[in-house]
Amino acid sequence: MKTATSTYEKPSIQQLKSGLMNKFAGVTSAYNQIKSSIAGVPVDDLVAQFGSPLFVYSERSLRRKFRTMRHAFTTRYPDVTFGWSYKTNYLKAICAILHQEGAIAELVSKMEYDKAKALGIPGKQIILNGPHKPFDLLEAAVRDGVTINIDHLDEIEDLEAIATLLGQTISVGIRLNLDAGIQPCWSRFGFNLESGQAMEAIHRIARGGKLKINGLHSHIGTYIMEPSAYSRQVEKMVKFGYNIEALYGWQMEYIDIGGGFPSRSRLKGTYHAADVLLPSIEEYADAICDSLWKHLRSGHTPKLIIESGRAVVDEAGSLITSVCGTKRLPDSTRAYVMDAGVNLLFTSFWYRFDIALDRHVPGTAEPSVVYGPMCMNIDVIAESISLPPLSRGDRMVISTVGAYNNTQWLQFIEYRPNVVLVTETGEVELIRAAEDLSDLERREHLPARLASNAFNALPQLSSVGWK
Ligand SMILES: *Cc1c(COP(=O)(O)O)cnc(C)c1O
Repeated sequence: MKTATSTYEKPSIQQLKSGLMNKFAGVTSAYNQIKSSIAGVPVDDLVAQFGSPLFVYSERSLRRKFRTMRHAFTTRYPDVTFGWSYKTNYLKAICAILHQEGAIAELVSKMEYDKAKALGIPGKQIILNGPHKPFDLLEAAVRDGVTINIDHLDEIEDLEAIATLLGQTISVGIRLNLDAGIQPCWSRFGFNLESGQAMEAIHRIARGGKLKINGLHSHIGTYIMEPSAYSRQVEKMVKFGYNIEALYGWQMEYIDIGGGFPSRSRLKGTYHAADVLLPSIEEYADAICDSLWKHLRSGHTPKLIIESGRAVVDEAGSLITSVCGTKRLPDSTRAYVMDAGVNLLFTSFWYRFDIALDRHVPGTAEPSVVYGPMCMNIDVIAESISLPPLSRGDRMVISTVGAYNNTQWLQFIEYRPNVVLVTETGEVELIRAAEDLSDLERREHLPARLASNAFNALPQLSSVGWK
């Protein structure tokens, strides 16, 4: 194998910029990693067959991650259910793998409900959260036996109307927002605990006489690096549950702590490798389960529901992207234009990705900026990364990108590319085909009066081009 030391490096003079990694600083640049294969499949083969850019998921990595998390919780508490957060990644193949592993569906909209139903998920295996639950969706969900967590007062009224319609009492959960000691404190979902708003909602529900609260939900945020935040969350939820029980006799059948465990992608502004910063999943499981054991009455073990999204899928996803142009900026910074940008990596606004090259490229590394193909200044994948001189066609493998990118990607300027799954035995399966013009225009209607052949009246730019 060719190594970096066997390659002749041409002498050169390079301006050193303070604060940036360079070959004189004695730091092995984490950016200059080589990743020539993904889940055992050579990047060359993947690109030859499916083109670039290309999203690649590792089924093995996804299943392993889920199993590790499942093990961490089920060995500490007797009744645990995982809800797969569809909005984190609702590619059918990804959802199907997680359902196979035993996760039910955690949904936040009509669209996600339709997706789960189309996949064949029964209502008893669905949790419906989310701030926008149209009346028709709520009614269908109630009839379907879905676990519904109420977000706001108007939803209480809708559910009461549905209870009247069906002539029966409906058991539902309620979403709480609470201060778990971390910033920012998410307060927009559900009812606030500390202000008394949540208890007011409980009184309101009791007065209505049509609904019964049987579960508590709270999702305190995302990328929460502090396990003790969950201890406080659980303590507050359990105590609130017992208050409700004392007042109205409603027993809490489940405590749903939402998601929020971090993945190994790095937030911008952090400088250590994720492994150094992040607590392990066992530490989160300890914090949550210890708090449950401490605050639950003996013999009472309500179902613990966990809706982890990012921590489950992020590391299973990578994106291959190729250099399509190289340039020098006026300040002499080296710049690259890639075939993938923020259109495909929406999370680049918050995360600093791991960027590897798919092969060793000789030459002195220099601080470079990596742009995507969008005609927008903000389309930057990496603002300053030490890279050897790349040429058109050279490839990068960007990870960890499995969370939120394939749901938040933009249909803007470019088609969305192929998405493949590498199976546990190393086969490569297409799980979402690259888009073409028909995907883009399928819903458009061009009024007949605008579809005339009047375009030949347009001015012609005859002064340029081949004649
Ligand atoms: C987004 C979301 C999740 C998943 O959050 P992660 O930070 O990806 O783990 C879970 N539950 C609810 C209600 C959510 O909105």
